[in-house]
Amino acid sequence: MEETSYVMAMDQGTTSSRCILFDRAGRIVSVAQKEFTQIYPQPGWVEHDPMEIWSTQMGVAMEAMQKIDAKPAQIAAIGITNQRETTVLWDAATGRPVYNAIVWQCRRTAEAIEQMKAEGWTEKVRARTGLIPDAYFSASKLAWLLDSVPGLRERAEAGQLRFGTVDSWLIWNLTGGAVHATDYTNASRTMLFDIHKLAWDRELLDYFRIPESLLPEVKPSSCFFGETEKLGGCIPITGAAGDQQAALFGQCGFGPGAVKSTYGTGGFMLLHTGEEAVESKQGLLTTIAAGEDERVRYCLEGSVFIAGAAIQWLRDELGLLHTAPESEEYCRKVEDTAGVYVVPAFSGMGAPYWDPYARGTIVGLTRGASRAHLIRAVVESLAYEMNDLLGAMREEAGLDIAAMQVDGGASANDFLMQFQADVSGLAIRRPACIETTALGAAYLAGLRVGYWRDLAEIRQNHRIERVFEPAVSPEKRAALLKGWQRAVRCARLWAEE
Ligand code: ADP
Repeated sequence: MEETSYVMAMDQGTTSSRCILFDRAGRIVSVAQKEFTQIYPQPGWVEHDPMEIWSTQMGVAMEAMQKIDAKPAQIAAIGITNQRETTVLWDAATGRPVYNAIVWQCRRTAEAIEQMKAEGWTEKVRARTGLIPDAYFSASKLAWLLDSVPGLRERAEAGQLRFGTVDSWLIWNLTGGAVHATDYTNASRTMLFDIHKLAWDRELLDYFRIPESLLPEVKPSSCFFGETEKLGGCIPITGAAGDQQAALFGQCGFGPGAVKSTYGTGGFMLLHTGEEAVESKQGLLTTIAAGEDERVRYCLEGSVFIAGAAIQWLRDELGLLHTAPESEEYCRKVEDTAGVYVVPAFSGMGAPYWDPYARGTIVGLTRGASRAHLIRAVVESLAYEMNDLLGAMREEAGLDIAAMQVDGGASANDFLMQFQADVSGLAIRRPACIETTALGAAYLAGLRVGYWRDLAEIRQNHRIERVFEPAVSPEKRAALLKGWQRAVRCARLWAEE
């Protein structure tokens, strides 16, 4: 009898390292998770210890295997998915990090990016990398390390250092320093990679003064990266993708028109645009999608800064809720918001508005407005924000979008999902396995080693737990959206003076 085998997903996130073992049916058979330290050296700065990332990731991998007594020979392949953009720099000879990892959230290079924009780089950056110049992406973080930490520039020029996003850092360690590689999706978030030519961009490397010897080899997301002996036997590493792209793949978003929306602390939406890289005029990003073969596909990406965080605000700052899920009960206590709209623009508004000065706004209050109305208005605002992103994507990609896949913590809220279907006029499909990020990494790895034969087999695995169909009239939808647009205008007007 053939021994049961699994695919291992290493899901290295911003606050925790997780490992999940999946079986052929795409079911979770074992999970282990460990949080690690968030380091805040100054206001606005965020770092991680790369050794802690590595040790927690190894720890949970062993724990996940040990929980079900899985032998290394039963792990068919490893797929990696990771927090994107976070920047690690290490010594090639010793494998020791030369500084803490600078996390995507870190704003220490905001001024350098303002300078870059003032010098007129915005269009060039967009044309080459698909991104809007921002401190989120790895480029300015790496430049900061070389420019600010004594000795690093000399060591980099002498070819002694290696740079990587977290996937590269893990691959390097898993292979005992034998492989320095990344995948297209992660490379496309560095702001150094030409997403059309599929090569590091010479001019951007020169601008940031980054020696080429630092850079990893860039490979497709589903391919042979190397082998690891670190888990007690030889296991191939055959998948890697940034978290958002892995999630789209895990939701079976394989082709043009597939869209997934993640309702976490913030909100992320990705629309697959096939082999065409759509350039956005509304502030969406163009980025590389995870694919099952060598051909490169693209997607449009948009984010909202505050999604589930607005629910946390109701709970923690206003004290109107004990728990986030409780919000759903309040939403159902009232028939509507009684004309109340909340725009949770606590830190400005992203695409398609790009207004850093907009601020959180509550409009339409009357004497009868209650706690339930206010809570419902906040929950609805998540759907409106996502709908704005979706509208921009539909317009720019000109694609027919039939349904939207959802995941993330707040996607558990049935009221929110129904409201999303109503305002977007789309079927909302919530999968049974909400671990879509890890599942995507597992699929990428498993496909390469033949654990899953092809995409068709994976599609058969895909179980939809619930579909929410739009249930309001077009007139009602138009009226709701009109109110939201007016509320957004108020949020933006407020800061104008
Ligand atoms: P992240 O990965 O960004 O940490 P998660 O995907 O775990 O986030 O989602 C957590 C967020 O979802 C929190 O902001 C929380 O307020 C919100 N949330 C969780 N459950 C619900 C719910 N039932 N209704 C509304 N919001 C929820």
